[in-house]
Amino acid sequence: MDTSDTPLLSIVIPCFNEEDVITSTVNRLRAFCATVKDVRVELIFVDDGSQDGTRARLKSFGTEDPRIRIIGFARNFGHQVAVTAGIDAARGDAVVLIDADLQDPPEVIHGMLTLWREGYDVVYGTRTDRPGESLFKRVTARLFYRVLSRLSDVPIPLDTGDFRLMDRRVADTLRAMPERDRFIRGMVSWVGFRQTALPYQRAERLAGESKYPLRRMLRFATDGILSFSTKPLQISIALGMFAAFLSVLGVLYALYMRLFTHIWVEGWTALMIAILFLGGTQLISVGILGEYIGRIYAEIKQRPLYIVQEYWGFDDAEPVLSRSPVPGRR
Ligand code: UDP
Ligand code: MG
Repeated sequence: MDTSDTPLLSIVIPCFNEEDVITSTVNRLRAFCATVKDVRVELIFVDDGSQDGTRARLKSFGTEDPRIRIIGFARNFGHQVAVTAGIDAARGDAVVLIDADLQDPPEVIHGMLTLWREGYDVVYGTRTDRPGESLFKRVTARLFYRVLSRLSDVPIPLDTGDFRLMDRRVADTLRAMPERDRFIRGMVSWVGFRQTALPYQRAERLAGESKYPLRRMLRFATDGILSFSTKPLQISIALGMFAAFLSVLGVLYALYMRLFTHIWVEGWTALMIAILFLGGTQLISVGILGEYIGRIYAEIKQRPLYIVQEYWGFDDAEPVLSRSPVPGRR
């Protein structure tokens, strides 16, 4: 089995404070590994600066299982960045991204592998059902994917998260993309090649709680939209045109009243409304502009995307591909 012409599958699992679920995750993944044929597997866990016992547990599994590799971040860098580090370090002929909370069933990877062998470069999991998630999360998620696909410059499939398989060519392309705004699912769509969907049922989070509270979800949604579209800027132009159009109507109305009737347009209220409307439109536009400028600023600072504290369980003889400026303890 361990011959080098057997293809290698890298499974990348980002983990942030997943102590409650990590044991089940490792066991489920190992059970999956036992059932795949003609493929070797490496499990790359990216510990995104967990404060709990996640990393210690992973290491204790890793001491008895050479397939387990751990990338330990120096602090919490966020889900998308953790996934990026995993892709950077993965050596597989195919790379799978999967969440640590078992919401994405590992067994679905069988289907992904089949499609990959048929020649697809990307097989993305599309969620048909999201049991156990709050109505609020389901509605906002639905809305987000639809707004995004309306605004985005590249077509991004609906209801598709990061659970996916990609071929080495796609992983290499992602590795060559330096941008800081990592909206992985959008970036993978942008790359192209042959892509296909694989519908699956999203399960409930097995244990622990979501690491995406409302605030982070909003941030993530804005990142996704702003890094894949400049349409918000056009929206602010449209808002400005609309305001200008309304003011022309107002002027015409006032002139008409003054010239052809005895009434003067009086106007504290009208004035106030106009000022508030204009002020609001301007602030929104400046805010949108500011979001893009903030991103340009972050981009030109050229900070490294992540800092690795340690690489654990990797082959000592081989260098690990990484964007981290420090090599990380081995
Ligand atoms: N995650 C991470 N860093 C973070 C937040 C989350 O690595 O800052 C991981 C988390 O451990 C999980 C995955 O990203 O494996 C998805 O997170 P979660 O399940 O909390 O999100 P949800 O499914 O609720 O959207
Ligand atoms: Mg989850």
